[in-house]
Amino acid sequence: MSQYKFDTKMVHSGYQVEPTTKSVTPPLYLTNAYQFDDSQFAQELFELKQGGNIYTRLQNPTNDILEARVADLDGGVGALSFASGHAAIFNTMINLASEGDEVVASNAIYGGAINMLGVTLKRLGITVKFVDPDDLNAWEANISEKTRALFFEVVGNPNANVADIEAICKIGRRHGIPVIADSTFTTPYLCRPIEFGADFVIHSATKFLGGHSTVMGGIVVDSGNFVFKGNERFPLYNEPDQSYHGIVFADLGPTAFISRLRALITRDLGACLSPFNAFMLLQGIETLSLRMQRHCENADKVVAFLASNDSVSFINYPSLPDSPYKALADKYLPNGVGSVFTFGLKGGKETGRKFIDSLQLLKHVANVGDVRSLVIHPATTTHSQLSAEQLKAAGISEETVRLSIGLEDTEDIIADLDQAIKKAVK
Ligand SMILES: *Cc1c(COP(=O)(O)O)cnc(C)c1O
Repeated sequence: MSQYKFDTKMVHSGYQVEPTTKSVTPPLYLTNAYQFDDSQFAQELFELKQGGNIYTRLQNPTNDILEARVADLDGGVGALSFASGHAAIFNTMINLASEGDEVVASNAIYGGAINMLGVTLKRLGITVKFVDPDDLNAWEANISEKTRALFFEVVGNPNANVADIEAICKIGRRHGIPVIADSTFTTPYLCRPIEFGADFVIHSATKFLGGHSTVMGGIVVDSGNFVFKGNERFPLYNEPDQSYHGIVFADLGPTAFISRLRALITRDLGACLSPFNAFMLLQGIETLSLRMQRHCENADKVVAFLASNDSVSFINYPSLPDSPYKALADKYLPNGVGSVFTFGLKGGKETGRKFIDSLQLLKHVANVGDVRSLVIHPATTTHSQLSAEQLKAAGISEETVRLSIGLEDTEDIIADLDQAIKKAVK
């Protein structure tokens, strides 16, 4: 579908009316096994010499449509879906790094990702060095001969810090290290990191891609641009693989990463997406651009209200004229900066809590990217496992409140915020 425009791809990519039923909507194949034509065919499937369905842990016809659609929207050569965004991140890391290896990651990311990288990967012998994502020298200074990946969020959770994608990708390219961009808050509609040099893009599809807070899911998109062949950092890809008849994954060229992720990592770790969830995510993606436009418009209006409110002490929203991220937002996010951001009320933590408890329309939940407007206090919830030092590095204070603006009428959203602020600061 690559000749079509974004909105057309969002509705059609990855699916052509299938000849048996002529179903116009992508069918939900709630199936886990597929008949082999004959013994020879079965053998060739298992040797990766033939394409085709074997078993839903490896591939499924509905998941295939979702993967092809998101790959097309992001401009990649392939994608793989996972049971959650977190599974997508973990499996991507394990597909690049082994015991003794290192990763350099932004310190201003989702708290759950900081735990996964800083605690669980560490237990597996993979050391993650966290850096201030705005400090390009820090990215460079933390690279060693053991570094296997650079990782950041395009728009960071929760403070909506915008990464200088192109600059970080240049550093990766100079050292032969792949760059992974978590594009959850932006979706392919607001930003396509591959166009700025990212090698792999990750989405927690649980958020805006699904868009309705129904199912979990994660997706990894491969740009096809990272060259593993001959890269000394990646014996994993350049030496014959013991568990696959001696295949050398680097020989697969542009699809080396995504093929290894499917054929080896997902085969062994099994974090595959349920086809039912893939079906639900496809429904969400069909209206992605419409929803993202409205999410952004609504967030702009809410931010304008907060900016004019005397009880508000700060707002972290990258398109505000005085935001330190304004220039990066203009460059990377011309269609809008998304609808997740943070702000604080004068009076600190207790005022913030009272504000959250006084809201009536906004839902108090650990989620973002829903059609409903959502609120949470990161320091005591999503980022609560972080130390005081890590919270400071991530720019999260006791008074930080995170909002995810939904699709309700902004007059109603603002009226609810207004009454809750009045109660909280009274
Ligand atoms: C939610 C989130 C994740 C984790 O995704 P799940 O689908 O919840 O596992 C990763 N990155 C970001 C930026 C997120 O907001």
